Parts: sequence; C-alpha cells; structure tokens
Amino acid sequence: MKILLTENQIQSKIKELAKSIDDFLIKNKRNENDIPVFISVLTGSIFFFSDLIKNIKSEIIVDYLKVSSYSGDTTTYNVKILKDIEIDIKDKIVFIVEDIVDTGLTLKKIIEFLKDREPRILKICSLLDKPSKRLVKVKVDYKGFEIPPEFVVGYGLDYNELYRNTPYIFIYEQQNE
Ligand code: 5GP
Repeated sequence: MKILLTENQIQSKIKELAKSIDDFLIKNKRNENDIPVFISVLTGSIFFFSDLIKNIKSEIIVDYLKVSSYSGDTTTYNVKILKDIEIDIKDKIVFIVEDIVDTGLTLKKIIEFLKDREPRILKICSLLDKPSKRLVKVKVDYKGFEIPPEFVVGYGLDYNELYRNTPYIFIYEQQNE
C-alpha cells in the first residue's frame, strides 16, 4: 500500500480551501437571509465534506445528493441521480462538494441537474482532481490536490465499498491471485 496523501496534508489543505471559500462567501453574500447551500455528493465525499464545513465560519445549510455511475465503456457511461437534494436552491449560492473528478462525466451530469433549479451561483469544490483522465470539460473552482491517473482509496473513497474509513489516501494496487 502506497500512501499518496497523509492525514496532515489533507487536513492542512482543507483549512486553506475553507479559508478561500469563506472569503468568497463573505464577498458574495447579499443579506442576512442569503444562506449558501453546501451539497455533499455521496458517498465518497463524506469525510471531506464534514471536515471542510467544520472549517467554514460562515453560516451555511447542508444537503446531500447521491449518484451512481455505470460504465460499460466510456461511450456508454451513464450517470444516474439516486437521491435528490431536499432544499430549494433557487437564487442561492450553491457549492457542490465532490471527492474526486476523473473523467468529469459525473460532475457534468450533477451540474446540469442542479442548474435547472436556477441557483444564483454554482461552485465546485473537489478534494482530488485527475486532470489527465478528463473526457469532458468541467471547471473545478476549488480543488485540493491534482493527482496522477492512479486508482486511489481511503478518506471516503472506496474499492467495492471497502477502505473508506482511513484518515489518509492511498494508491490501490490490485493483488494478483
Ligand atoms: P468521473 O469519472 O465521472 O469524473 O468520476 C466518477 C466517480 O468515480 C467519482 O465520483 C468517484 O466516485 C469514482 N472515482 C474516480 N476515480 C476514482 C479513484 O481513483 N478512486 C475511487 N475510489 N473512486 C474513483
């Protein structure tokens, strides 16, 4: 097992991200009732989401979206919304919080889905980004780390639902039987 990002690296990056996001929220808040909505994309972003929002000082509301991706091959890649958000985001500042952006197809689908609800501002925050694997153009406004095109697990990210519960991220190496 090769550790890619330690707990300390992750936590200090999250503090930096939270500070930049707070600065943005302060600049863009219209009035006391203008409360931004932070959406966690389940399940991979659970730890990142909770650590990030604990470090955000502005008043916020949270909600959750669950998606699933099926890929026979890249051309039949299909993203489905399994659980919708419950909050009305019309005219709100909305942050989508993702664990990782790889091909970008999941994020593209989520952006299209949420844009229909007419948020005032839609921002993307992802802990990890694999730019070399991108198939569609998506803009990640706040990103933690650019990583190589390896399959990573830990800190919320799984392999067949395993390995989510570590405070660090490591490169998953397939064992040969
Ligand atoms: P996309 O290819 O649509 O950008 O990413 C789809 C989803 O694939 C991500 O939200 C994430 O759940 C999963 N994924 C992509 N790369 C990795 C990886 O390296 N490790 C793990 N565990 N999941 C990944």
